[in-house]
This record gives sequence, C-alpha cells and structure tokens, in this order.
Amino acid sequence: MDGIFEDTATAFSLKTDSELERAYFLFKMIANQPLVKMGSLMTNFALKAKLPVEGLIRATVFDHFCGGINEEDCLPVVDRMFEKKVCSVLDYSVEGKQEEDPFDNATKTILNILDFVKKKDAIPFAVFKPTGFGRFALYKKIGEKKSLTAQETAEWQRVVNRFDTVCKKAYDLDVSLLIDGEESWMQEAADQLVEQMMVKYNKKKAIVFNTLQTYRWDRLHYLKELHTKAQQDGFKIGMKVVRGAYMEKENERAKEKGYPSPICESKLATDNNFDDTIAYMVDNLETISIFSGTHNEQSCLKLIELMSQKGVDINNQSIWFGQLYGMSDHISFNLAGKGYNVAKYLPFGPVKDVMPYLIRRAEENTSVAGQTTRELSLLKKERKRRKI
Ligand SMILES: Cc1cc2nc3c(=O)[nH]c(=O)nc-3n(C[C@H](O)[C@H](O)[C@H](O)COP(=O)(O)OP(=O)(O)OC[C@H]3O[C@@H](n4cnc5c(N)ncnc54)[C@H](O)[C@@H]3O)c2cc1C
Repeated sequence: MDGIFEDTATAFSLKTDSELERAYFLFKMIANQPLVKMGSLMTNFALKAKLPVEGLIRATVFDHFCGGINEEDCLPVVDRMFEKKVCSVLDYSVEGKQEEDPFDNATKTILNILDFVKKKDAIPFAVFKPTGFGRFALYKKIGEKKSLTAQETAEWQRVVNRFDTVCKKAYDLDVSLLIDGEESWMQEAADQLVEQMMVKYNKKKAIVFNTLQTYRWDRLHYLKELHTKAQQDGFKIGMKVVRGAYMEKENERAKEKGYPSPICESKLATDNNFDDTIAYMVDNLETISIFSGTHNEQSCLKLIELMSQKGVDINNQSIWFGQLYGMSDHISFNLAGKGYNVAKYLPFGPVKDVMPYLIRRAEENTSVAGQTTRELSLLKKERKRRKI
C-alpha cells in the first residue's frame, strides 16, 4: 500500500481546474499565520458590522470547507463524492450558543438530518456536538460534581432529554450517530451522558458513537474501563478516534489553574496513543466499532496494515476512515477507491454561524504546518499533471 496517497489524479478527481486553483490559493493564504489572524479578526468584525462580505466568504473559504447553508444545499456535493464512493457526514456546524432556543433548534435539525440520512446511502452517519444541545458551563459544573440549583437541574434534564430523543430516533431508524468531543473540562459530563445512551441503544450494534481525543493521555485507559463495562452489561461501543482540536486551550488552562495538563507530553506520545488505541479497538472488533478521524497518513496506513494482518475485510462495517471536507482528499479518495469505508465531515449552516468553525480550520492548518505543506505539494503536483 506504499504510495497509495500519492495518486493526485484520484485525490482531486472531483475538482475542476478552477476549484483546484482556489484550493491552492486558499492553502497558500492559510500557510501565512499573521494573515490568518488578521483575516479572522477582520471577517468577524465585517460580519458583526453587517458589511456585505458573505458573498466573498461563500465563494472562497466557505465553499471549500462547507457543503452549503442547509441540508438540501449540500446534496450536489454529497452525490458527487458518492460517485467516487466517498460518503458524507452532514455536520451542522453552528457553535457555542447560550440560549435555550438554539439548543431546541439544533435538536430539531439533527432529528431532520436523521430522517434525511435514512434515505441516503451516501450519508451513513449523523453527528452532533454536546454543546449544541446544552450550555458549556452546565456540562462543566456537572463534571466538577458541584451541586446544581433547581433551575439548573431542570435545565440539565432538558439536555438529557435532547440526547435521548436524538439517540432513540437514531436507534429506531438504525442510523449511526457520532457525538463530537470537546474541551476536557466539559467532556466528563458529556461522556457520562453518552455512556448512558450506549447502554440504552447499543445493545445489538454500535448506534451511538462517542469521541476519544488521544492527545489526552488518559483516554486509552478510559476506553479499556468502558470496554469492561460493555462486556459486563452487554452493550457495544462506538468510538470516533481523533487526536483532538483544543490542545492550546487545554495546556493554557492547566497552566493557569495549576493542574497537570491532560495533554500528552509530545506529538510523538499523542501519535503513539492514537495508534495504540486503534490497535486495541481492532483487537476487539466484535464489541467496538471504529471511526478513525484523522488526516495523518501514517495512522491511516497503520490501520490498513492491521486490518490486513488480522484478515479484516477492507469494507468491514465496523471500521470507517473519516476526514474533513476540504482537507486530505488524497487520503479519502484513494482509500475509497481501494474499497475502504470513508466518510467526510461536511459542515453546513448559515455563513455567519459557521465562521467559528472556519476560523478553527484555518488556525489548525496554520499551526499544523506540515499538513498545509503537504496539501500544497499535492495540489502543485496535480496542477503540473493537468498542465495548468
Ligand atoms: C472526521 C474528523 C472528526 C473530528 N472530530 C473531532 C472531535 O469531535 N473533537 C476534536 O477535538 N477534534 C476532532 N477532529 C479534529 C482532530 O482532533 C485533529 O485536530 C485534526 O484532525 C488534526 O489531527 P490529525 O490526526 O488529523 O493530524 P496530525 O497533524 O498528525 O496531528 C495534529 C494533532 O496532534 C496533536 N498534537 C500536535 N502537537 C502536539 C504536541 N506537541 N503534544 C501533544 N499533541 C500534539 C494535536 O491534537 C493536533 O491537532 C476531527 C477530525 C476529523 C478528521
């Protein structure tokens, strides 16, 4: 399988010449850290000041990283990717709201997406973020085991009900549901809640998937403990495995508050933790389903190797590879071309509400310099191949 990711003709087969040029231009901009910082500030300001910048954002960064402003809008992208056997995960990327209404609206959106997903083979999973359904500060307070006021207890019950409504519907429709991982100081409450959902709805198969962020050194231990419970109580585990997106925030908070950082001591330690976690899961495929969410080529290759060593079919439904739309097409399209299960997160939502997501993507690509360089070199190679 060496060299599997070098095939740029397959990787960019869906991109027109002008889309290829746009991607090249975008990643060149993203590689420039001061430009990303300034661009983020200016875009936020322009949107708040209601300046007419939505069209520009839409034609550039939005269309590269997002599928559209609503589910229907995403369909052309979903269908085009599926022609190349790459599936989609519609990701309603509206973040960090505080009021109750948006939480109920987000719940309704996910319920609608579940109906939508049921009808489309091209979309095998639905996904949501815990803080889409409840206040960050409330998760944090529960994680800290502080006592809640009567009002907060009622508020939490509404969060639990939102989780339960969505997970039950996923179960009834037989559609798998990914639940994203967030900052460690809210994640404990989310983990407890997702665990309850797994106990309830994963009796026969993994419908509900939690997320393990392997930049946290405690996660493999957590998975092993959960696995013991799953074997004792008779439920299946679904896990999306990622490295984790909040490293700087995690380290800064730990330093500021004077507790040991939950983050691995080095990138290498995170990489080893990711690969060891995947290996543990592949060893236990009868009870654990894997969604490997990574743009790291070595980790993808290691999973492929493990599958081959253990005689696991390449399209075994318990193993999925996942990347984000607009990134690492060389991994997604080449793996799908060989018959592996691949799904790309396809973010959608109104342009101004998706901005925090887009800024995070730009910042992440800026800070993970190697990844941007890799995207650029592949795009360059394909431009050369097409003689543009
Ligand atoms: C499909 C999909 C779903 C995702 N869902 C989530 C989610 O629910 N929650 C979430 O938090 N993230 C999520 N992510 C983002 C993910 O956590 C990573 O931030 C991103 O994918 C980059 O990691 P990588 O494995 O792709 O690549 P790599 O470039 O190999 O790894 C970069 C990552 O390594 C870690 N790292 C970097 N430097 C160090 C260091 N010095 N010490 C320790 N660790 C270090 C960080 O996590 C960094 O993001 C998702 C990603 C994908 C592709």
